[in-house]
Amino acid sequence: MGTHYIIDDCTGCGTCEPVCPVDAISEGDLIYLIDKETCTDCGACDDVCPVDAIKWKETAS
Ligand code: SF4
Ligand code: SF4
Repeated sequence: MGTHYIIDDCTGCGTCEPVCPVDAISEGDLIYLIDKETCTDCGACDDVCPVDAIKWKETAS
């Protein structure tokens, strides 16, 4: 089990948003955000972020 999340390095470029197959990414006040409940952890957004601001964190299952 784990979770994908976006760190403060996000420049707000928006590249990740259309890549998500389940529409879990949206524009927040300062950076883009991933909706934990919707995200399936497919990793597609991770591959396209130009500044490597999308991270994966292992969580206890
Ligand atoms: S692709 Fe990366 S920098 Fe661009 S909006 Fe998404 S998380 Fe932010
Ligand atoms: S890991 Fe997949 S489902 Fe989750 S936000 Fe990124 S593209 Fe969307």
